Amino acid sequence: MFTKILIANRGEIACRVAATARKMAIQTVAVYSKADAQAKHVAACDEAVYIGEGEGNSPKESYLRWQAILAAAQATGAQAIHPGYGFLSENEDFAQACADAGLVFIGPPPSAIKAMGLKAESKQLMEKAGVPLVPGYHGANQDEALLQKEADRIGYPALIKASAGGGGKGMRIVERSEDFAAALASCKREAINSFGDEAVLIEKYVQRPRHIEIQVFGDAHGNYVYLFERDCSVQRRHQKVLEEAPAPGMPQSMREAMGKAAVDAARAVNYTGAGTVEFIVEQQGGYDAPDKMKFYFMEMNTRLQVEHPVTEAITGLDLVEWQLRVASNEKLPMRQDQLKINGHAIEARICAENPDNGFLPATGSLNVYRKPLHSAFERSDLRIDDGVRQGDAISPYYDSMIAKLIVHGATREEALAKLDRALSETQIVGLATNVQFLRHVVKSDAFAQGKLDTALIQREEKVLFHQEKLPLAGVISAWIAHVLIAERASQTSDPFSKRDGWRPFGITTRRFAFEWHDQPVQAELSYLHDGATLLHITQADTKLQGLLTCEQDATVEDLDVKVSFADQRFKASVHASSHEKGQVASIFTAQGATQLIVIDPFIQIAEGGAQAGRLTAPMPGKLVSFAVKAGDTVKAGQTLAVMEAMKMEHTIAAPKDGVVSEILFAPGDQVSDGAELIKLAA
Ligand code: ADP
Ligand code: ADP
Ligand code: MG
Repeated sequence: MFTKILIANRGEIACRVAATARKMAIQTVAVYSKADAQAKHVAACDEAVYIGEGEGNSPKESYLRWQAILAAAQATGAQAIHPGYGFLSENEDFAQACADAGLVFIGPPPSAIKAMGLKAESKQLMEKAGVPLVPGYHGANQDEALLQKEADRIGYPALIKASAGGGGKGMRIVERSEDFAAALASCKREAINSFGDEAVLIEKYVQRPRHIEIQVFGDAHGNYVYLFERDCSVQRRHQKVLEEAPAPGMPQSMREAMGKAAVDAARAVNYTGAGTVEFIVEQQGGYDAPDKMKFYFMEMNTRLQVEHPVTEAITGLDLVEWQLRVASNEKLPMRQDQLKINGHAIEARICAENPDNGFLPATGSLNVYRKPLHSAFERSDLRIDDGVRQGDAISPYYDSMIAKLIVHGATREEALAKLDRALSETQIVGLATNVQFLRHVVKSDAFAQGKLDTALIQREEKVLFHQEKLPLAGVISAWIAHVLIAERASQTSDPFSKRDGWRPFGITTRRFAFEWHDQPVQAELSYLHDGATLLHITQADTKLQGLLTCEQDATVEDLDVKVSFADQRFKASVHASSHEKGQVASIFTAQGATQLIVIDPFIQIAEGGAQAGRLTAPMPGKLVSFAVKAGDTVKAGQTLAVMEAMKMEHTIAAPKDGVVSEILFAPGDQVSDGAELIKLAA
């Protein structure tokens, strides 16, 4: 076994690999970019080497610099390199360079990465190995007329895919024959820009598809096993959101057939180590007819996947340990007949993004980052994989995943309940996240009943987006309780400076003003003779009133309050930060979370003015292109520029008709959040 490995990655996967290495008494070397100098993964390893050049932050100037990574491994005396996922993990040249430098690449042989690297070539190979494929065309001839003919033969809707694509990019659905040519051109453009290769393949667009993948493992002694399946059907933009194992409703015979097909696929390329064979599953008999499901090979990911923890949860195995054993030439630790499924596991990817605004990625600082308490769960039933700590920044340079929550239960129902609870105890303040959105998905009937397909999020949009689960009374009383408790904590023994309870003369009243979901709310708090506090809440025609009592929830931090208002009692956590109108409160309860603007009457907001006519970057990122030049006349909604941030492209559109008076940046420029990009005159 190795005594020292280098982890050529960052974030949660680097921390996760380091944890297994520590368990196995293997020393670890981290590599880091400029932005990551203080990152958790650096602290988690025994040594760390800076691998940046230039600005030292973009993947190109850091985690993709393989010569620097190889040099770091050699300088520190590491014997092997774990690539994690993303970055260099599926780069056959890097795998080969490791071997040439006398280092072990913890992954499959370069030849297997190459064979599976292109979707079209891998499909030709799989066809020969007898693995079922989606009806389609994956030939080398890329003549446009031929591609059109093939699409017409396959039928519509059809899917055009960049053969070199990945990460959900480079795909176009075509509904009608006459739309094919335009979709092909646009797909090729994205393929050449993102992957440097314009070859495409065409597939039948499977209806009501589920994404079910099989975890496989091979060793250098010709042994193969499959570690069952994961269902990753809940996706947005072809990217996974929730993953679970086993797949709901999976018939045992189909599991075995898919397992066999996956092992055949691995064997066909002399695969070693951890890999995932992804299948698309057609539900020919609707959501409730598992016996009518048909599976087709989609692609093989020649690395560890983001969602591997759900497989670990149901098998009780450590897949990184298996990777390390296989890479150091040991045999697979178990045979197929020794592997069993225990219970059900689900993973939720917590990302810095705004689901209610098209999943726009967010950046910022984790001013508050509170995780679910392990004490509330069976020890092994909750796992949190992350690469950040409270106070860390989510930068625009890398992807937007903050953490993964993984829960395990005896049944799917139990696992779902635990996931909802774990999400409800996840409190993040400082940037937008998808935590509440994930709760809505987990609680939706469609997901709970296992009516899965890759369109679930679109299909259920009415119950997933723009949801508010907290009642007005709860939100306002939680804030006022928070204020009263903070005042009690700071009060002196002088009765005249007391702001709660006993007053020498009569009733006193305090007024509060708020904005909640852009609607004004007023509240009045009256101190009664006997020390009680009476709260009135007014929003438009709604008037609520009741006695308010509160105390600090001593069990945790001072952010937690126990509130009783009218006939409701509940616990809440309240975090306040400054806001242009006063403060913004982030309020978390078991029911949900929300943001409330607390208006400070002494702050005057300037009306209109400066912001009008400005076109600013919605987030930090890189400018890809401008679609207009100075002097152009534009219409409202017209594309002006394209930005790239967190691996996604965002279009900046004209807010109104006008004339472009000035372009303030050039393509390729890095811009910060709020930077003015274009001047538009009326
Ligand atoms: P998984 O199935 O493990 O979730 P993903 O497709 O989500 O795999 O990819 C895992 C990571 O690798 C993500 O950070 C994703 O953005 C990145 N990734 C995968 N393929 C590519 C690619 N071809 N180019 C850039 N990033 C990629
Ligand atoms: P990537 O390399 O980007 O992960 P995949 O080929 O694995 O690309 O496809 C990503 C996702 O696109 C799948 O999980 C699935 O949701 C959808 N998809 C892919 N192929 C098809 C198909 N033939 N029909 C319907 N959906 C598909
Ligand atoms: Mg895929």
